Amino acid sequence: MNRRSFLRRSALAAAAGLALPYRPLHAGLFRPVSRVRRDLDVVTGDGRTVTLANNVVAEFAQALRGRVLLRGEDGYDDARRILNPSFDKYPALIAQVTGAADVATAVDFARDNGGLLLAVKCGGHSASGQSSCDGGMMIDLSPFRGVRVDPFARTARVTGGTLLGALDHEAMAHGLVTTMGTVSHTGVGGLVTGGGFGRLGRRFGLSVDNLLSVDVVGADGRLRHATEDENADLFWGVRGGGGNFGVVTSFEFRLHSMQREVVFGDILFPLARARDVLGLYGEYGPGAPDQLALGAVVVQPAGGAPGLAGFNLCWSGDPNSLERVIAPIRALGTPIADTLASMDYVAVQRSGDISDPRAVGQYIKSGFIPNLPAGLVSAIADRFEGDPRRDTILAFQQGGGAIARVAPGATAFAQRDAMANLLCFVNWPNGEDPADHVAWIREFWIGLEPFTHGFYVNDLDADMTAATIRENYRQNHERLVAVKNEYDPRNLFRLNANVQPTV
Ligand code: FAD
Repeated sequence: MNRRSFLRRSALAAAAGLALPYRPLHAGLFRPVSRVRRDLDVVTGDGRTVTLANNVVAEFAQALRGRVLLRGEDGYDDARRILNPSFDKYPALIAQVTGAADVATAVDFARDNGGLLLAVKCGGHSASGQSSCDGGMMIDLSPFRGVRVDPFARTARVTGGTLLGALDHEAMAHGLVTTMGTVSHTGVGGLVTGGGFGRLGRRFGLSVDNLLSVDVVGADGRLRHATEDENADLFWGVRGGGGNFGVVTSFEFRLHSMQREVVFGDILFPLARARDVLGLYGEYGPGAPDQLALGAVVVQPAGGAPGLAGFNLCWSGDPNSLERVIAPIRALGTPIADTLASMDYVAVQRSGDISDPRAVGQYIKSGFIPNLPAGLVSAIADRFEGDPRRDTILAFQQGGGAIARVAPGATAFAQRDAMANLLCFVNWPNGEDPADHVAWIREFWIGLEPFTHGFYVNDLDADMTAATIRENYRQNHERLVAVKNEYDPRNLFRLNANVQPTV
């Protein structure tokens, strides 16, 4: 160090009232000051309780660039909450991570302290509340958000806590897209590891079909890069096996050129036409052009407004061809609402966003359907029943097209043959007793379930048993177990559609 820089440092140190040796001025800004003052009882994955001494937790907090939050501390309530307020869980501690290094430190901590029950939260949309837990530890990825698009290579790198709206927004700035889900505040972390359906799925495949590489922190705390050629089993497993193998800290996607303007909207008929709408969806939907994202909906809104049945569509093909493409829908007659209009694709992707997500509780039943036969149309149309105290909604996430052109064993996502994912859900004002609504949907679903063939791991619901989950992975289950045995032999990552290790 020359004299001048020594003097400058000394002056800075003196001005800051610091004793030599020199301590960087920014040190206190980036290192969290631990406020941990008590021992913590924490639940483990196998249901024991371990007591962590306060200095152990304090050292963990010091090792992170992000924060450790305990119950009662500022930010704890926001961090612990997930979208669906029906899941009101209280982790013993929350690690808010800012990067892959923090993720690895947090995973090491959970593993080395008795195998703590570990939840991983990205966007918090888990339908069964898997991204939070009572008494265990949560890794909250929400401070770890970022997207970098390379418009020349047509790729995007997305960090593990990013919400999908950020990717749509950044990519479309270059006239580029990839398949993402239909609500922009859904997490890339959960959506993509489970598969990733969206409006562009029939054109470009599932989100997983557009992955070029991932970085994953496994249960051993090591960060691995995985591609078709490197750690290929891990890359295969992460594409449909959910969060079973570790925390994905980086996703690299292939992007596709697409125009910004698409045609988007609803064509809706009275609920009494549900049979016609569903019949047409079953006949026409599977063979429609790949540029047509077509969903059928049957809805009875809360408050007693009239029920509706119809279509939601997004057309990313030539606008002049649209009327020819949707002629079969027009043939159903005059709708009571037709909102089709040219729209910015990024705005379309935000159109389903929920302004106050915690205002409604939700319960969902879902399953893949290979087709929509007359028996299923009747099971829906004859038994669908609204209630003014809730929204009652039946909808479809479309399969087929490019999704079905990928072999079932090419990625861990096994349900390539599905025509659609059939979703039925009830929403009620948060705080009101959901018992009647949950009972209704369970009863309704009994009539629909025989027509389903497995379920989407991202819509896992609490009624599913380990055996149902195992069967659902079909021919891919054996390989998934082998990948699990290698990367998470003690099942640290168990809050998901769990693949149980056998070692
Ligand atoms: P979180 O609750 O944060 O995470 C869910 C699970 O994902 C976690 O328990 C964990 O196991 C895993 N996980 C999260 N981040 C990571 C990571 N970085 N690495 C490894 N594992 C991780 N699905 C579709 O395919 N298409 C849709 O259009 C669609 N729309 C939806 C709209 C709404 C309003 C909701 C509630 C759900 C929707 N889903 C859709 C389902 C959605 O894909 C799943 O709920 C998904 O799990 C949400 O991901 P998340 O990160 O928001 O959830």
